[in-house]
Amino acid sequence: MVSRVIPVDDFDLVIFGATGDLARRKILPGLFRRYLAEQIPADARIIGAARTRQSDAEFRTETAAAIHEFMGAPVDKARLAEFLDHLCYVAVDARGADGWPELADKMRPGLVHAFYFSVAPALFGDIAERLVSHKIADDDSRVVVEKPFGRDLATARALNATLARYFHESQIYRIDHYLGKETVQNLMAVRFANILFEPLWNAQYVDHVQITVAETVGVGGRGEYYDHSGAIRDMVQNHMMQLLCLIAMEPPYHFDPDAVRDEKLKVIRALEPLGAGDIVRGQYAAGPDGPGYLDDAENQDLRTESFVALKVNVANWRWTGTPFYLRTGKRLRARTSEIVVTFKEPPHSIFDEAVPRPNQLVIKLQPNEGMHLTVMIKEPGPGGMRLVQVPLDMSFADALGKDGAEMPDAYERLIMDVIRGNQTLFMRGDEVEAAWAWTDPIIQEWEAGPARPEPYDPGSSGPEEALRLLHRDNRRWREIRA
Ligand code: NAP
Repeated sequence: MVSRVIPVDDFDLVIFGATGDLARRKILPGLFRRYLAEQIPADARIIGAARTRQSDAEFRTETAAAIHEFMGAPVDKARLAEFLDHLCYVAVDARGADGWPELADKMRPGLVHAFYFSVAPALFGDIAERLVSHKIADDDSRVVVEKPFGRDLATARALNATLARYFHESQIYRIDHYLGKETVQNLMAVRFANILFEPLWNAQYVDHVQITVAETVGVGGRGEYYDHSGAIRDMVQNHMMQLLCLIAMEPPYHFDPDAVRDEKLKVIRALEPLGAGDIVRGQYAAGPDGPGYLDDAENQDLRTESFVALKVNVANWRWTGTPFYLRTGKRLRARTSEIVVTFKEPPHSIFDEAVPRPNQLVIKLQPNEGMHLTVMIKEPGPGGMRLVQVPLDMSFADALGKDGAEMPDAYERLIMDVIRGNQTLFMRGDEVEAAWAWTDPIIQEWEAGPARPEPYDPGSSGPEEALRLLHRDNRRWREIRA
């Protein structure tokens, strides 16, 4: 199957923080991949901006090095050279006067203008103010902002208010790269382009939902950032909440940015406050393969959770009675992100020899994006009616061939959406605030108390208490495996 690549309009894309880690690892290699896919038009320009003083040629050399390092595939040198011709650089200080007139001179009228704020959120206001005062941005420009979008409701509101001073909501693209994943979008296609699942997609037929985001790495060099964050702020408030919304939301009237985001917002607003005992926090201990969290963070007093498991109830007509179990953690058994929808058992078994097992829809976000549905069939062979559970598999790589295996990375897709002016896969300001409004009390209660996270063995499935969170409901987690 050949996927269609539709080139975007000509653009000037300014990357603030172009010398930083995110730009080098994700943004610039992602743009190169879109160039290789012929989605970037001949007249497009990518303008790097940061305080570091360097020429266009030096920026291109640095970018080439980053692409070689992070592409994960051999690089076609001739195509890379062509791509680098689209790049230039301006030294700007977000908090000073340097560089802004030069940047203004570089912007070409009549094209799409996008500004990627790949810098600390503390600089968003300074950059926005200068973009507007130097007339570099106007009402048609787009700004892309990175996570973390606040660390609580108050800071998220302040960031929203800062951006709103300079830009309309329709110009602001808050990135949650989970939403750029192919399978996440496919979730909407599976739900809303098929008749099969939607009639069953409710508390009457769905027993429970599990969302797991497991990593094998520890905090490593990110210790200082992570200590101020922890798993709830880093993963639950944003990525996992977004996944939950896509599973739980009502069908939007149209696949349109605000229609989709309105429905997600309703889900967040329907989340019940967590009950006592509905949350488990863990912290990885030292093991034979490496240091524990406290060693990684170089502070033995920290109570930051590197693992969290939650039982969440969505209090509305569709979902009351169907719990959503969320868990995420570092240094776990395998790296995997998946959603498992477990349906209820058939009400009555007509077979004497076997009890049917519940159907499960497994939506795999990484690695190996794809979906499978488990169904009961007759075990082949003579001698009675024995049942066996088999997966109906839809690995994208198998089903879609080469194009399925080479899906654009989430960042690439999202940047192209910015140029197209499509906000569907970006979080709206009120969504972010609603997510913090639900998360804040959970964090505050924890921070006010004396409890410590439960230690867990590296390479395990997390703390024992997280297993009990489901056992007490007569359920069990799906095994964490790649
Ligand atoms: P980083 O490596 O520390 O890079 C920061 C960038 O900001 C550098 O290019 C730096 O360049 C520039 N900068 C700093 N102060 C500046 C100023 N006053 N004026 C202009 N430019 C300035 O950070 P990062 O990891 O790339 O992260 C960037 C943003 O993305 C952060 O908000 C982060 O939370 C978010 N994010 C990062 C990742 C990731 O994987 N790295 C993932 C998700 C979200 P100069 O020093 O040359 O000025």
